[in-house]
Amino acid sequence: MNVMEIFETMEYGPAPESPTTVLDWLKERQPFGLFINGRWVKPASGKYLDTINPSTSKPLAQVAAANSKDVDAAVSAARAAAETWSKTPGHIRARYLYAIARHIQKHSRMLAVLESMDNGKPIRETRDLDIPLVARHFYYHAGWAQLMASELPGYGPVGVVGQIIPWNFPLLMLAWKIAPALAMGNTVVLKPARYTPLTALKFAEIVQEIGLPPGVVNILTGEASQVGDALVRHPGVNKIAFTGSTDVGRTLRRATAGSGKKLSLELGGKSPFIVFDDADLDSVVEGVVDAIWFNQGQVCCAGSRLLVQEDIASRLIDKLRARMEKLRIGDPLDKAVDIGAIVSSAQLNEIQRLVDQGVEEGAEIWQPSWACPTEGYFFPPTLFTNVSPATTIAQVEIFGPVLVSMTFRTPAEAVALANNTRYGLAASVWSENINLALDVAPKLKAGTVWVNCTNLFDASSGFGGYHESGFGREGGKEGLYEYVRPAWETSSPRTTEHSSNGPEQGASTDQAGEDEEDHAAASERANGYHLELPAIDRTPKMFINGKQVRPDSGYSRDVYDIRGRVIGQVGEGNRKDIRNAVEAAHAAGGWATSTTHNRAQILYYIAENLSVRETEFARRIVQQTGRSDADAATEVQVTISRLFTYAAWADKYEGVVHRPPLRGVVLAMKEPIGVIGMACPSENPLLGFISLVAPAIAMGNTVIAIPSQQSPLSAIDCYQVLETSDLPAGVVNIVTGERDTLSEVLSDHDDVESMWYFGPAEGCKRVELASAGNMKRTWVNYGHSRDWLDPLQGEGEELLRESTHVKNIWVPYGE
Ligand code: NAD
Repeated sequence: MNVMEIFETMEYGPAPESPTTVLDWLKERQPFGLFINGRWVKPASGKYLDTINPSTSKPLAQVAAANSKDVDAAVSAARAAAETWSKTPGHIRARYLYAIARHIQKHSRMLAVLESMDNGKPIRETRDLDIPLVARHFYYHAGWAQLMASELPGYGPVGVVGQIIPWNFPLLMLAWKIAPALAMGNTVVLKPARYTPLTALKFAEIVQEIGLPPGVVNILTGEASQVGDALVRHPGVNKIAFTGSTDVGRTLRRATAGSGKKLSLELGGKSPFIVFDDADLDSVVEGVVDAIWFNQGQVCCAGSRLLVQEDIASRLIDKLRARMEKLRIGDPLDKAVDIGAIVSSAQLNEIQRLVDQGVEEGAEIWQPSWACPTEGYFFPPTLFTNVSPATTIAQVEIFGPVLVSMTFRTPAEAVALANNTRYGLAASVWSENINLALDVAPKLKAGTVWVNCTNLFDASSGFGGYHESGFGREGGKEGLYEYVRPAWETSSPRTTEHSSNGPEQGASTDQAGEDEEDHAAASERANGYHLELPAIDRTPKMFINGKQVRPDSGYSRDVYDIRGRVIGQVGEGNRKDIRNAVEAAHAAGGWATSTTHNRAQILYYIAENLSVRETEFARRIVQQTGRSDADAATEVQVTISRLFTYAAWADKYEGVVHRPPLRGVVLAMKEPIGVIGMACPSENPLLGFISLVAPAIAMGNTVIAIPSQQSPLSAIDCYQVLETSDLPAGVVNIVTGERDTLSEVLSDHDDVESMWYFGPAEGCKRVELASAGNMKRTWVNYGHSRDWLDPLQGEGEELLRESTHVKNIWVPYGE
């Protein structure tokens, strides 16, 4: 095409990026080995796998197929390296991360071309987005390595981290994983996705170039069934960080349950893109292009559900179709191409299958008139209208360039439609009325909300989901906590409690030595408490929806003192009581929007009312546990102080404003998680209960608490305090009974958003297993006891973090 013809037609001329350097590099290196302990080694299996260029469907290179033996070797190397790396000063780790960032920039074009060829995504995206963001993550985290000692005092690295990443942003996902892990002093074994291993291998070369100590980073290519599975189950791994599909995330949750491995899951999404009728429609159209056709729609946070206010729907759809007609699909190395190739034939077939299903279910399909290239795996941008919210294409993550559109009339309807999904990764809101946009943003159940923009990312702003989009955050300060542990945690002893249900307290009489008995008797005498009374003629009930209720089962269970004598009875809660409590906790959801001042006031009021009954509560502790009166009095006093602590935090645990490199701000808001189930520790019947309930409600959650199974009376006595402290009905619900049975029901319940469990290791495992159903967050003690009297362990920031999500709201500004 000559200049005259271009002038006449205004057609794009070809603007290809040369693949030569990359092809030469591939030719020289392949077949690629595994990167273990700073060296390239042959796979134990002796086998290699092809990686395909999706835009040609031809093989690009051969990479090693690792198996469990290689995983063993890589984990051993990482373990050995962790000895030194974990003690390497932050400044030195910062220098290494800084060097990685610099070398990413030195090889930026090579990495961009390699990524395009291996994944099929347009060079425009890899060059301008993926690779600059990769460098930014290493720079940003070099800063955190430098600041770790001063900004995260009392925390240490987790150890060896197994990292598993998907194929849609191969190098970027690697950076999101490796940068924070190394910054916090961990060593890693990373498995790239089967389809896209090449940039990770180039990254390994960079690691060698900068002289990172051997074993700090290990990279294993291969099949999920061989490498991924072995890594997840390896006993030498302390944490698994995973990004990928919700189904695999669920498998990993089950596989790691009870192992004590930390787990973070960044999973799928079906994110809403909400357009109000006062939005600037031309900007909206470009926003939609970025939301769903960026990276061929293979983006976890793709705005794949277009929700449009009814009165502008047809105008917007017309504009969109006109824009779709102009999108350019083709060779990813052509700099003037908008849409590249789908990553694999399997993914292409899956997209086609779901699109066919959409048509079968009655939605109306529209695709541009032009045809896709016939060589390679291409799929045209696709728009569905006339979509009903319950259909497959409106609910399931398609992970391709397919947009489904629906309409709404009012902002409330928009929010309801947006939240009608099992996911909660991201959302976009488009309106020229900033009041409306900022009113809607906090109501959306999503980890990231973009106002009048979409798909913006930065290392400073955490990214992660709600619900089945996973848990944990990547980026920002909040992301660092995924890679650290409180220093005291590693040395905490295992609890001697067992998971068995029933009145083991009776048995505990036998276990309790003579000394203990004498001590109890002595303390009774010293207190002047008369404990020789027969079973107390009182019926402590459960507390649901602000009312004292009898158990549905109609059964009670005995509560014993340390000598095995019955000192009271509590209700034997069952599944139905839990259901009622969850319903009440949901109905009390308005608590989340009550002012922080109001929540603080109520917590102070609870403390005040508790202090009036200090002696009575101390007596109860003595009665149930046989501890000394001084001990019990201390527990009550610390409990009152703890209520003050969380009253204080209620209006102070605030978000931050990030300033990523754009004209605008990101509001990182700490939001309540929702309904939290909690099995309280048995160590301190009152303090353990309040230490969990207080931070949760201070942050705006509603709770269903299962008090200590052995000593439930202290928590049960609290309901009278709660009733007189202006706490709205349903904010705190207390269900007594068998801790493990009730915990399992809560963990399994789809309307419970997080489950905390403090009990024996087997119980922790059951909670983690049962939680996989709706991928709720869990916080368990893996059978380790905690000193609730120690402020570091009993009222640290950890409790506030477990009570909140961070939602990042991106607000660009300027005309
Ligand atoms: P996938 O779940 O199939 O695979 C992800 C990784 O897990 C791959 O490396 C794969 O080899 C490995 N894997 C698969 N089965 C495994 C097993 N049983 N044990 C251990 N490892 C196993 O996902 P994908 O198709 O590669 O990626 C697409 C998915 O990733 C989408 O659902 C997308 O939404 C999600 N994603 C999420 C984010 C996020 O930040 N939330 C980012 C990118 C992609």
